[in-house]
Amino acid sequence: MDTQVAIIGAGPAGLLLAHLLQRAGIESMVLEARTREYVEHRVRAGVLEQGTVDVLTETGVGDRLHREGMVHRGLELRFGGRGHRIALSDLAGGRAITVYGQQEVVKDLIAARLEAGGELRFEAEATAIEDLDGDRPVVRLASGEELGCAVVAGCDGFHGVSRAAAPDGALAVYERVYPFAWLGILARAAPSSEELIYAHHDRGFALHSMRSPEITRLYLQVAPDDELEAWPDERIWEELQTRMATRDGAFALNEGEIFERGIAPMRSFVAEPMRHGRLFLAGDAAHIVPATGAKGLNLAVADVRVLARALRAFFERGDEAELDAYSDRCLRRVWRVQHFSWWMTQMLHRLDANDPFEGKLQRSQLEYVVRSEAAARTLAENYVGLELEDV
Ligand SMILES: Cc1cc2nc3c(=O)[nH]c(=O)nc-3n(C[C@H](O)[C@H](O)[C@H](O)COP(=O)(O)OP(=O)(O)OC[C@H]3O[C@@H](n4cnc5c(N)ncnc54)[C@H](O)[C@@H]3O)c2cc1C
Repeated sequence: MDTQVAIIGAGPAGLLLAHLLQRAGIESMVLEARTREYVEHRVRAGVLEQGTVDVLTETGVGDRLHREGMVHRGLELRFGGRGHRIALSDLAGGRAITVYGQQEVVKDLIAARLEAGGELRFEAEATAIEDLDGDRPVVRLASGEELGCAVVAGCDGFHGVSRAAAPDGALAVYERVYPFAWLGILARAAPSSEELIYAHHDRGFALHSMRSPEITRLYLQVAPDDELEAWPDERIWEELQTRMATRDGAFALNEGEIFERGIAPMRSFVAEPMRHGRLFLAGDAAHIVPATGAKGLNLAVADVRVLARALRAFFERGDEAELDAYSDRCLRRVWRVQHFSWWMTQMLHRLDANDPFEGKLQRSQLEYVVRSEAAARTLAENYVGLELEDV
């Protein structure tokens, strides 16, 4: 088998890259280890930055997103039992976020890829990438087949094979693992608020989000080694009710059947450079952010926008300058987003129950963010997402 760009992974990064390349007349083949059913139902992120919505809209895959997505112009920070609205759009030049599930983005991109007749192979696991330093790398598949190409795009997430294909010592790794995880649920219950609520509480962080007018997405900070069995429905609701409660008792959290649940670790991770020879890493394959800033999916989209443009210059004009600039260009945004995600995480989670000093600092930071327009603007412009060229 042979193609111009071998794309490993059919998550948001790989699928959007294939879509952008297709529109530029560049051939690619997407290899995905899992089944279509599995990737279309994998529940993960749901907050799309303005720039992510814009690229999906401009390239013709935004119709359903505009019909079903929910545009949010603010969010709530809740602490000390009181809510404070951050007016995202007013503070960030009119930009907004859209709530639309990652698996819906994936479904839309898969449909577009198949409709355009592009190559997308499910249950096609890449096991190795060879000859990265030459002009004709080869991807080996578990089936025994091999795929020759000019460029490999490693879009296979944190646990994929791409990053590991770079020789030892070629990539520097920066990492922080947090001493907590998120228990996330989907419940058949109407959202209890029109906007997202980020709640800081002595018992730990909680987040109220949504996926539709009938479905609520909720998260709880839990211990990193907690198992789902330790969290029966009653315990989840009790803890959510406690952490989200307001002092005036006016907030009512709607409950409903929990039909999806999972525990995800919280980690900050960057491997750099995001390139080795003809291998380019994008999305979670190169970096992970703690979910508090709602950035993982958006960062993956930002990477592949830069990569698609660079590949176009390469295939159309033989110009390698943009490919050479790819890693540095992406890493500027990656580190801005790393900082923002870390900042949100350390401001909102219970860090060390035995260290009251931390709690006092958090409370001071939260009060400053809701009182100072400058501080609120910093949160807002990072949350809705900086323009591609701003970072
Ligand atoms: C469990 C979990 C929960 C999350 N929850 C949230 C959240 O609530 N909010 C938030 O903002 N962000 C969340 N994120 C982060 C966000 O979903 C990711 O940042 C986003 O999925 C990145 O997209 P990607 O395309 O880079 O990688 P992925 O979506 O991980 O896609 C990589 C793809 O590569 C495939 N693959 C892996 N190895 C191979 C191989 N060897 N050969 C072929 N294919 C392979 C995988 O099956 C997968 O389909 C979560 C992430 C995880 C893992």
